[in-house]
Amino acid sequence: MPRIECLNLGPQCVSLRLPLAVVERDAGTATVGGGAHIGDLSGAGQQHGLATPTGTVRTVGMAGLTLAGGYGPLCGRYGLAVDNLLRADVVLADGRLVTASPDGDAELFWALRGGGGNFGVVTSLMYRLHELPTVLSGMMLFPFAQAATVLTGYREIVATAADEATIMAGFLPNPDGPPLVFLCPMWSGADLAEGERLIAGLERLGNPVMSQIAATPYHDALSMFDGAMRVPPSYGPNYERLASAKCRYDPDNIFASAVPALAV
Ligand SMILES: Cc1cc2nc3c(=O)[nH]c(=O)nc-3n(C[C@H](O)[C@H](O)[C@H](O)COP(=O)(O)OP(=O)(O)OC[C@H]3O[C@@H](n4cnc5c(N)ncnc54)[C@H](O)[C@@H]3O)c2cc1C
Repeated sequence: MPRIECLNLGPQCVSLRLPLAVVERDAGTATVGGGAHIGDLSGAGQQHGLATPTGTVRTVGMAGLTLAGGYGPLCGRYGLAVDNLLRADVVLADGRLVTASPDGDAELFWALRGGGGNFGVVTSLMYRLHELPTVLSGMMLFPFAQAATVLTGYREIVATAADEATIMAGFLPNPDGPPLVFLCPMWSGADLAEGERLIAGLERLGNPVMSQIAATPYHDALSMFDGAMRVPPSYGPNYERLASAKCRYDPDNIFASAVPALAV
């Protein structure tokens, strides 16, 4: 269902509506509207066996992500989202609509690529796409007691891994005990056997309590995070405490205001 995305700037209103994502197959590019989500772009690309770097969570905005850089599971191979940005249409503060690219308004294009939302309202963005029908991707979980061994081994593996491998690591809350260590590998190389060897090496870093890795299109691989980012039950009461501390955040004295709030 199409979403209506709109920035209300008082007397001016800039519509960020459709098209959310259009793939130009022959040109190897995709253009998304300023209000498009990651999933709009990855989903449109998947229909053609194409992909470009995005973040990991499909409901995050592609414009906000890109303007801040945009790292994700394809970064090792294809760079940041901003490295794949070819063009952006921008409404400037004086109401003019301009197209920023290496060939026109190049300084604005340079500024947009990492400068955040400070330079105008981006109404559309064009990205370079890459042939990528399948990735090898998923998650493995290790007991907290193995964290030091797993993370030390992880650091050694990523130091020499091929560019086609991007591996996220971290901790996940565990309602039944201490947090679990997660490794989320994504192998984007054509040689899946090489990716499987890498993943087997990761599994050998400890005794995983769960390991679910599969060959799948990129857009589908990102669905792994669809449910995990809801506030309850992952963060539970701690989220409420953090939110309340954030409300009381005093930029002049963060430690005096925020830290006692967390201890309540
Ligand atoms: C659950 C979650 C997962 C995340 N994962 C990743 C990740 O894997 N990789 C990563 O790099 N980042 C990640 N992020 C961070 C995310 O990229 C930033 O929070 C980004 O700013 C979100 O953009 P948004 O459009 O969704 O949010 P918004 O709050 O809508 O936008 C954030 C800011 O971006 C600017 N902006 C947004 N749209 C426009 C526009 N059309 N024109 C001009 N300025 C605009 C504005 O300054 C706005 O204040 C994640 C965030 C969340 C909440």
